[in-house]
Amino acid sequence: MEADHSIEVVVIGSGPAGLTAALYTARANLSPLVLEGEPSSTSDQPGGQLMLTTEVENFPGFPDGVLGPVLMGQMRAQAERFGANLVGAKATRVKLQDGGPHTVWYRDPSTGDEIQVEAKAVIVAMGARSLLLDLPRERELIGHGLSTCATCDGFFFRGHNIAVVGGGDSAVEEATFLTKFAESVTLVHRRSELRASKIMQQRAFANPKIHFAWDSVATALLGEGKVEGLKLANVKDGTESILPVTGVFVAIGHAPNTDILRDEVRLDTDGYVVTHDGTTATSVDGVFAAGDIADRRYRQAVTAAGSGCAAAIDVERWLESHQPLAG
Ligand code: NAP
Repeated sequence: MEADHSIEVVVIGSGPAGLTAALYTARANLSPLVLEGEPSSTSDQPGGQLMLTTEVENFPGFPDGVLGPVLMGQMRAQAERFGANLVGAKATRVKLQDGGPHTVWYRDPSTGDEIQVEAKAVIVAMGARSLLLDLPRERELIGHGLSTCATCDGFFFRGHNIAVVGGGDSAVEEATFLTKFAESVTLVHRRSELRASKIMQQRAFANPKIHFAWDSVATALLGEGKVEGLKLANVKDGTESILPVTGVFVAIGHAPNTDILRDEVRLDTDGYVVTHDGTTATSVDGVFAAGDIADRRYRQAVTAAGSGCAAAIDVERWLESHQPLAG
């Protein structure tokens, strides 16, 4: 089947990584097509995870903080100003081949028709999503006492009693970090033994501000408009209790949004895109990865934006080195 159009570069994703890659490739006159995702999907709505947060205080350049959706709106406008072609659609399928061209399919947002585009280079920047507990009203309480990022939001919980749900390294690390701000932190874990590494466990056990709710699962978020408590059920004896907390951090893991990349590009055992040589290059020549889709370690808006910039520069250089010789 013939492609509907052929272009230099497609950017898939519209979080800080995708939009920074869009800005840089647009300013390099590469007229990127940016597939932003669809607002109907809550897990990967356009703008990425910052669309689910309120105040962002750690993005450089905003001394008074900025609302996540406002920041993303500004990044979007900046990319558009330089000629990025932003389309509110998800990539439904990709066919990537060493050296390109690569094929990307998406649905036209107004007609629903499937469109096939061929690109010399592709930047994948679909991000990762924090796993949530599947409790009623969970999404609406994000940014109102419920968070998935202690580094981002811990500061807002000075003097609060808070809960962290999970028993892995993230949960224990977040609980320990949060004691800098919180009055108390209760780690809610569904078993009686932590999964976290021993050294992190020891640190948590030695911290007088950290308490443990063992064998417990969260069954309801209490409070109107903001978190005012967490209902727990003991999985062994079925007893119910209420933790009087005003903050809940969910730290039960992340999942990269790489479903469409399976069988197309090398992923690690947890599904993150593998990049190599300290660049954004992936296992497929001409395909580059930016942001949380390839980063299980930092997961910050500013590091995602930085890697979006790096991916754009990698694309620019790659395209230059793959130009047909004149003459
Ligand atoms: P993880 O290791 O997969 O741990 C997830 C935790 O959440 C587990 O304790 C699990 O319980 C619990 N959990 C999962 N689903 C749940 C649910 N629906 N309800 C309640 N609890 C649930 O994830 P992670 O802690 O984010 O770590 C991911 C990877 O990054 C790991 O390899 C980790 O070592 C690494 N990491 C390293 C550091 C560090 O070294 N500083 C920091 C953070 C993360 P069970 O234990 O019962 O399965």
